[in-house]
Amino acid sequence: MSELCNEKLVYGNLVNGRWMESASGNVITVTSPVDGSFIGEIQAVSKEEVDEVIRYSKEGLSSWAGVPIFEKARILYKAAEILEERAEEIADILMMEIAKDRKSSVSEVKRTADFLRFTADAGKSLEGIAVSGENFPGGSRNKISYVRRVPLGTVLAISPFNYPINLSASKIGPALMGGNTVILKPATQGAISALHLVKALQDAGLPEGVLQTVTGKGSEIGDYIVTHENINFINFTGSTEVGRHLSKISCMTPLLLELGGKDAALVLEDADLKYAASNIVEGAFSYSGQRCTAVKRIITTDKIADQLVDMLKTGIEKLAVGDPRDNVVVTPLIDQKAADFAEFLIQDAIAKGAELIVGNKREGNLVYPTLLDKVTVDMEIAWKEPFSPILPIIRVKDMDEAVEIANRSEYGLQTSVFTKDINKAFRIAEKLEVGTVQINNKTERGPDHFPFLGVKASGMGTQGVKYSIEAMTRPKAITINLT
Ligand code: NAD
Repeated sequence: MSELCNEKLVYGNLVNGRWMESASGNVITVTSPVDGSFIGEIQAVSKEEVDEVIRYSKEGLSSWAGVPIFEKARILYKAAEILEERAEEIADILMMEIAKDRKSSVSEVKRTADFLRFTADAGKSLEGIAVSGENFPGGSRNKISYVRRVPLGTVLAISPFNYPINLSASKIGPALMGGNTVILKPATQGAISALHLVKALQDAGLPEGVLQTVTGKGSEIGDYIVTHENINFINFTGSTEVGRHLSKISCMTPLLLELGGKDAALVLEDADLKYAASNIVEGAFSYSGQRCTAVKRIITTDKIADQLVDMLKTGIEKLAVGDPRDNVVVTPLIDQKAADFAEFLIQDAIAKGAELIVGNKREGNLVYPTLLDKVTVDMEIAWKEPFSPILPIIRVKDMDEAVEIANRSEYGLQTSVFTKDINKAFRIAEKLEVGTVQINNKTERGPDHFPFLGVKASGMGTQGVKYSIEAMTRPKAITINLT
């Protein structure tokens, strides 16, 4: 197979510069969550094939090290250009493969092109430093340490279904600029979109073996590749459940984990309620809430809750729901299991006394945007990550209680604080146990050069252009002793 896929839409893996079918003959059929239509077939690689890919990655390290940084940057720039040229074509695949609306699909591809360019620039500004021994007591000017960042080796990039292009590129780009070789293992649903990103990078001129892919069931080859002695870094985005498992088995291989969330929006009594409501509706329901940083609960006080609920309801009722090809916001969930889970969370809350304001309607995997008021801490929706269009409102007596409930979650990705009083916002922000606090904005990833991280069960390590390059390189010191 010389190209990414054949005329029957059988996709290969990029192995040492060639698109290869698995010798095992095992394939996985990818169908659309929109209408069940056939998207393509991907390879289910064997452990022996994983070994081969890792061997090529190791070999690729020295040739990639020989490519000057400005040339590495040029390849990323070229890949960005190719992605932009193919944006509509790739967005069409993305839209049907993961049921993401057209506007968000195109914007994911374009954002990825911007990300690659920014990463290329950040890589070019990597510089070493020289440290003089005389700065430490007893030291001398005759001792000088030259410190620069060097690659870790082969990076295993594991991406989730919801941003197969952007969250694959956010690992691949910085890893490459740091001088590493990369093996991408995308999620099965989303794999075909991710392979198109890899093809753009290949077409931009990446040498053989520098970027490769393995597709297959995470549950079948995942543990094998993660524990392989020649994987030097694991960069994972996905669920907390899988992240915890990888962290247990990875032994001494360093990893970066970006996991689940239960982001809260704290709405204070002096907030601009109209703005907060429309901003929260966007944050909670775009791509049907299937985003790690989706607003997943509102915490507010009785005094403004009724007014806020009315505004949220109005906003939700305006959301277009349906087929991603028709300019909508809420689309079918990724699979039936996800829709069943959403339904369970809604029914559990209603059975325990939550007030249904709007929603609680389902057609197949399409779950309508649902707003639940008066949610209490005994309900599953108060704590579980729904990854679906469900927004619960928890009413509290004051903001001390709001902060306590926000922090009681096992997750710690982001929290929003809506208020006109910046002093109050800042004081609350200081108390919140999350990676990022958003003042007067919905929780969200980006701009992509900002640090992005989760604490507690939301992750370990920091992403964001320069932070990601730093995470996937290490300092190397060469000390000169003048005689
Ligand atoms: P998932 O954990 O089911 O899968 C993520 C990836 O891990 C997939 O590629 C999967 O094949 C792979 N995998 C599964 N088992 C494996 C194993 N044993 N070894 C190696 N790889 C294995 O997650 P998902 O359903 O694709 O994505 C949704 C989750 O991702 C949500 O919890 C969401 O919050 C989280 N997420 C987090 C961020 C973030 O940056 N914090 C961003 C997007 C999504």
